[in-house]
Amino acid sequence: MMVAANRIPFVDLAGLHEGLREEIDAAIRSVVDSGVFILGPEVSAFEQEFAAYCEADHCVGVASGTAALQLSYEALGIGPGDEVIAPANTFVATVLPLLALGARPILVDVDPDTALIDVGAVQQAFSDRTRAIVAVHLYGQPADLDLLLELGEARGVPIVEDAAQAHGARYRGRRVGSLGRIGCFSFYPAKNLGALGDAGAVVTGDGELAERVRLLRDLGQERKYHHVISGHNARLDEVQAAVLRVKLRHLDGWNAARRAAADAYAEEFVGLPVTLPVAADDREHVWHLYVIRTPGRDSVRAALARAGIATGMHYPVPLHFQDVLAGLGNGEGSFPVTETWARELLSLPMFPGLDRDRVRMIASSLRSAVAGA
Ligand SMILES: *Cc1c(COP(=O)(O)O)cnc(C)c1O
Repeated sequence: MMVAANRIPFVDLAGLHEGLREEIDAAIRSVVDSGVFILGPEVSAFEQEFAAYCEADHCVGVASGTAALQLSYEALGIGPGDEVIAPANTFVATVLPLLALGARPILVDVDPDTALIDVGAVQQAFSDRTRAIVAVHLYGQPADLDLLLELGEARGVPIVEDAAQAHGARYRGRRVGSLGRIGCFSFYPAKNLGALGDAGAVVTGDGELAERVRLLRDLGQERKYHHVISGHNARLDEVQAAVLRVKLRHLDGWNAARRAAADAYAEEFVGLPVTLPVAADDREHVWHLYVIRTPGRDSVRAALARAGIATGMHYPVPLHFQDVLAGLGNGEGSFPVTETWARELLSLPMFPGLDRDRVRMIASSLRSAVAGA
């Protein structure tokens, strides 16, 4: 379905797939014809291609980004009573799998400019029970990995990268996902690299860890009929892997188009009284989301909706205010930067086909919306 010319969607997946229709149809047809749907040649080939893309030695395809995180925590041996440090401003899936393992997320605040995990706060959150630090590359921008790796190394604690929003991003020239002990990716359809349903992957340089994740995703099955540990059914399937192989070839081009759209926003928004996102010089941001801040967020958002412009919020309810995670802070004021961002943040449309004309329309509607807020 085409999107009406005067409406701007938050993401335009139909537009993205339009140009790939034949390649995607052929990939799906070839899986259907092969009769192999689970853990076959497409999954193996995708794992090799995605490992190479991430400059990592190993990749294991799994059922979702959440599964990637859960299996990674489990493969690292995180269990009851263990603590894992994570930012308060992230998607809930970064920490929920820890609850299932009996572990305790230790939330820390984020940097006021980038909303990425605050390394100073991480340092203060360490205890004898700390077993991992999660570096979330939020909105497509890598967290400060060198500082986190240094801290982790000094304490013998691994860094888990939640790269669900940052496929292809680089930190000081190196691809994210392969810099910590293990990196977790989601291929949820709207991510920079998205499947046609749920899918995910882990990448790592540690062969033993990759092997444990491989066992955990397939009921602990070492070879047919032989189950050596208690695992899950968290496999990536052949159809999704075949589609991901097609789309992976376009990822760098799409990320470049996102970067161009972010640059266009910055140019068109000059002089607007809103806070624009900050991209650090030593990192290559892949602009999964373009998040601005304005104190009148709710009325600005409503005015944009009336003008036909869809927006999102990432995330309006910080983790420590989620019922399921109550008790991870001390209520209001626990993580002041995260809480201020939550009130003011607004995610504008961002996708590879967002052209200059639409960026101009958004800028003009935003200008009136902010004036009226
Ligand atoms: C999308 C996302 C996840 C979860 O991925 P799913 O594939 O939806 O399970 C985890 N962490 C972050 C930061 C995400 O954006």
